[in-house]
Amino acid sequence: MTQTTTKYIFVTGGVSSSLGKGIIAASLAKLLQAQGYRVTIQKLDPYINIDPGTLNPYEHGECYVTDDGAETDLDLGHYERFLNVSTSQANNVTTGRIYQSVIDKERLGVFLGKTVQVIPHITDEIKERIKLLGSSGDYDIVITEIGGTVGDIESLPYVEAVRQLKWEMGNDNALAIHLTLIPYLSAAGELKTKPTQHSVKTLMESGVQADILVCRTEHELGQSIRTKLARFCNVKEECVIQSIDASTIYDVPNLMLDEGLDKVVLNQLNLQRHQPDLSSWNTFLHRHKNPTHEITIGLVGKYVELQDSYKSILEAFTHAGAANEVKVNVKSIHSEHINSANISALFSDLDGVLVAPGFGERGIEGKIEAIKYVRENNIPFFGICLGMQMAVIEFARTVLGHKDANSSEMNDSTENPVIDLMEDQKQIEEMGGTMRLGSWGCTISMPSIAYDAYKSNAINERHRHRYEFNNFYKSEIEANGMIATGINAETGLVEIIEIPKHCWFVGVQYHPEYKSTVAKPHPLFKAFIKAALKNKTSN
Ligand code: GLN
Repeated sequence: MTQTTTKYIFVTGGVSSSLGKGIIAASLAKLLQAQGYRVTIQKLDPYINIDPGTLNPYEHGECYVTDDGAETDLDLGHYERFLNVSTSQANNVTTGRIYQSVIDKERLGVFLGKTVQVIPHITDEIKERIKLLGSSGDYDIVITEIGGTVGDIESLPYVEAVRQLKWEMGNDNALAIHLTLIPYLSAAGELKTKPTQHSVKTLMESGVQADILVCRTEHELGQSIRTKLARFCNVKEECVIQSIDASTIYDVPNLMLDEGLDKVVLNQLNLQRHQPDLSSWNTFLHRHKNPTHEITIGLVGKYVELQDSYKSILEAFTHAGAANEVKVNVKSIHSEHINSANISALFSDLDGVLVAPGFGERGIEGKIEAIKYVRENNIPFFGICLGMQMAVIEFARTVLGHKDANSSEMNDSTENPVIDLMEDQKQIEEMGGTMRLGSWGCTISMPSIAYDAYKSNAINERHRHRYEFNNFYKSEIEANGMIATGINAETGLVEIIEIPKHCWFVGVQYHPEYKSTVAKPHPLFKAFIKAALKNKTSN
């Protein structure tokens, strides 16, 4: 049911950060998509970085990568996992990018001698970026999530852009959802509405009236709380939507459906409501919640304290687990804590091991130790990006006897750079946006684990790295039992390595986790979980 005009939904946050705006936006999008609407989601981030590519995962969680090679906020991962629709550069915009573009225009003389100001120049640029997705004609509804919390100085131009767009487009073409927190004071035994009242008031000071309140809460909102919120915040009672803590983020679309979020949204936008078809979503949920087996996977990395650093990998386990009807327990293991003395105890309860992506030297010897252990003990192994590179290094050191084998990222004077910079990367000095990024083709040879998983010889996967398998060592490595089963045809770069003699040993230079969705769990993750389950049951 294609709309002629695109409708816009803005999602702002109040009271506290980390309330899950991305999940609410993705859940609403899911409900609208399940009624036949073409929906996309955009994230506007108020920080000055051009993109999160140069941000430490400790600061901002995982950096997500799109097909077109944009390094983006991890919320885009939620959008893709929920909607099974690819996002692009246009789906994530930062203040840095907005200013960069306005300043570039100023240098070109585009503003014809005018004083360049936050209003109108910055706000116009923001408005343009918001409308860009709608003007493609590909979407009936664009959901725009404004990062940060209302009242933040850096969010002001975004809220002003929302105010202007709501005014220009009118109430049935644009609406504002405000996500807030209703804290529970255990001493008083009460839920409190005051922070939300203040937050809605702050939004109003910038001229934006929230149309719908989504209220994060740990306890059910009673009728009197809903009435009170409606009265003090100028919203209809049915527009006070409860968002109670859920055991999994994948429950949120159904919770929002029960609360009627899609109904009030479609009603205000003058769009028809249909019964959403969530059957395949609910099949996934049922499998996720009713596993027949349970396994434990070791996730070896250096950011393991932070859930968000390996977000897409953890979600890919959830999708692949459901596909196999297996509960996947993930045991995070800090690579800096692994050594030859403690490894057998640390790994004794593991059915498979994934060595994570990463940058820099810290913790790599622990990763290499982990790979040696699983290779020699025939435990299923999955190495992603740096994890694959470490598998090549371990193999070169232990099996080929090149004791100093390394990646030139870690040691640029090694005699055996089995992982090395490509020629065209050597001249690059700028850090941001200069890696091998985005979707690249890969040709898979047969027989291979990769072919069995993908059931195809030609795949495309997303990349984010600077260093590569050094083809100088390829024949020596292959002659000793580690085979390159995936190659990029144009460049000859190695994308997949396997050890056929091992029960399941796969390293990939790309990031399969970015492409795993609820509707399409990633084939390699599915195969890895299956292999880990087999390993467990055969022991
Ligand atoms: N640091 C490695 C490189 O740049 C691996 C990157 C990654 O794991 N994403 O090649």
